[in-house]
Amino acid sequence: MSTDPTPGSSGDRPTPPPDFVRRRRLIWVLILTGLFLWIWMPLLEREEWTPVDYTTFLEHVEEGRVERVLLEGDEIRATLADTVETAVPDLDEPVRYRRLSTWVPAMGDDRLLGMLDEQAVEIQTEPESDFSWWWIALYALPALFILFFFLYFIRRMQAQGQQMMSVGKSTAKSYERTDEATTFDDVAGQEAAKREVQELIAFLRDPGRFEKLGGEIPTGFLLVGPPGTGKTLLARAIAGEADVPFFHVSGSDFMEMLVGVGASRVRNLFEEAKSAAPSIVFIDELDSIGRKRGAGLGGGHDEREQTLNQLLSELDGFEPNSGVVVVAATNRPDVLDPALLRPGRFDRRITVDLPSVSARTEILEIHARQKPLDPDVELEQVARGTPGFSGADLRNLLNEAALLAARKERESISMTEIEDARDKILMGLEREGIVLTDDERRHLAYHEAGHAILAATLEHADPLHKVSIVPRGRAMGVTQQLPEKDRYLHSREELDDRLAVIMGGRAAEELVLETITSGAEDDLRQASNMARRMVLHWGMSESFGQVAPAGGREQVFLGEEIAQRRDYSDSTARELDTEVRRIIDEAYERAKTQLEKHRDALDALVEILLEEEEVDGDRVRELI
Ligand code: ADP
Ligand code: ZN
Repeated sequence: MSTDPTPGSSGDRPTPPPDFVRRRRLIWVLILTGLFLWIWMPLLEREEWTPVDYTTFLEHVEEGRVERVLLEGDEIRATLADTVETAVPDLDEPVRYRRLSTWVPAMGDDRLLGMLDEQAVEIQTEPESDFSWWWIALYALPALFILFFFLYFIRRMQAQGQQMMSVGKSTAKSYERTDEATTFDDVAGQEAAKREVQELIAFLRDPGRFEKLGGEIPTGFLLVGPPGTGKTLLARAIAGEADVPFFHVSGSDFMEMLVGVGASRVRNLFEEAKSAAPSIVFIDELDSIGRKRGAGLGGGHDEREQTLNQLLSELDGFEPNSGVVVVAATNRPDVLDPALLRPGRFDRRITVDLPSVSARTEILEIHARQKPLDPDVELEQVARGTPGFSGADLRNLLNEAALLAARKERESISMTEIEDARDKILMGLEREGIVLTDDERRHLAYHEAGHAILAATLEHADPLHKVSIVPRGRAMGVTQQLPEKDRYLHSREELDDRLAVIMGGRAAEELVLETITSGAEDDLRQASNMARRMVLHWGMSESFGQVAPAGGREQVFLGEEIAQRRDYSDSTARELDTEVRRIIDEAYERAKTQLEKHRDALDALVEILLEEEEVDGDRVRELI
């Protein structure tokens, strides 16, 4: 599900600080200046006491000029009766002072008190204190720094906390509003879905008309379909066609670590949608919030329930024709809470399926609009060769092809690039740096050739497209088959042949090299899954007959699977295993017999593979 960045959604652009921030900065500056002055003023004040040497001070005492002294520890501060002027050797100007300060010698001076007494100087004493402004500054500054950092961090944490508190309120991040137009021209295929929503579009264009007639438009639409089939695109196109704002949110966006956030986001989303009505709210991945309640396991569960409850109450809370239409998308309608599907909620269900050949052609045409294609490119042929591709896959295919063409510095995209892009998407990127020994390559070649010969010779197998021993993605080699048309049902014969093709790799190894390797792991897993399904779900085994002993669907999501007990007995389970094994063994034997019949072609194909690494389906068929 794509989330195209849209103009209009708010980004992280730096904004000028708001007023209150500027005011707060001013306050901080004032406080700092105040502190500074408070520390330095006394130091400045001290200047008033002119420092003189002890002898000078004693002279002043003897001259009887000293009026008052303050003895504080070793420091003496004296106030003279009048201002004196003394010439200081180093200075040009004489120094004038009336208040002076000096220090008592460290060993003390026995005469001092007697002299002061004699001159009748007024003596004040104060206990010695370490109280020095310098010390304060020295100690206080680091402390102040620490304090500031502390405050800073606290404020940051608060800001974060506020952010956490405000996620529910923040409108910018949790959903995206689009007013830009996507139209039905951008959506290929999906004719049924387009028809279904015509009425809805008419309503959104002119809600008043419906109101007058007392008609009520359903508020909830559920788009059901595999990922990438254009559900989001369709919802966007509905908004575009009706020319109303489109609010896009993904179910997983509601899942926050804080309980209650999701709920408040839902509330805000709907508030804004209502104020912009008529409008469309699109909820992608509805299943991530809308799962059956009480079925999940582990955390996030309360949060989900609250979010879901909020959503339900929003859906219920619409007055008729309030103008907000909720469209939701999911690919797992089976896990949705039944409450969501009740009348008045998501009661209209629209299926959005993987595109058919003709729809694929149209989709390719739409996405090829901006891309220069070689005249020999036939999109219809591309569409035929891409069964099972979703709209998103097809877009991706053309994009890959464009990139490949750009890398080759071509002016336009040719069929070769499209083919390569498809291989890349289907089989994964070529893996480099893998060095195989000759022996290993031979094994690999026989394995893949085994698959390929069977795919080419068995009547009901999907036609062979290509076989390769170039390591790609997780696989060391690939045999690629392409169905001729889209398939919805599989007959027993097809399934048998498919199993034989899957087992063909290992069968060839054993037949020719008389040994087997570990390279068949994926094949074996695939084969057992398929055989199991044949027995369990499709009633395709003799001993079980038409009975499907399985309970439940495949792929039930975790919580439910654990809660759900399989409803067959142990002995049935044993029988099931025997049956699966029998089916696989049979397929294996068929594969071996078939390969023996085409032994020459097998050997020839292996030689070509070893040389060229990749062989076309047509060439393999010629060999046979
Ligand atoms: P979903 O929501 O079903 O997962 P999206 O709507 O996100 O799928 O589809 C992803 C992209 O695939 C779309 O943006 C669009 O480019 C392309 N796409 C999918 N289906 C179609 C379609 N029917 N017609 C045109 N483009 C499509
Ligand atoms: Zn294989």
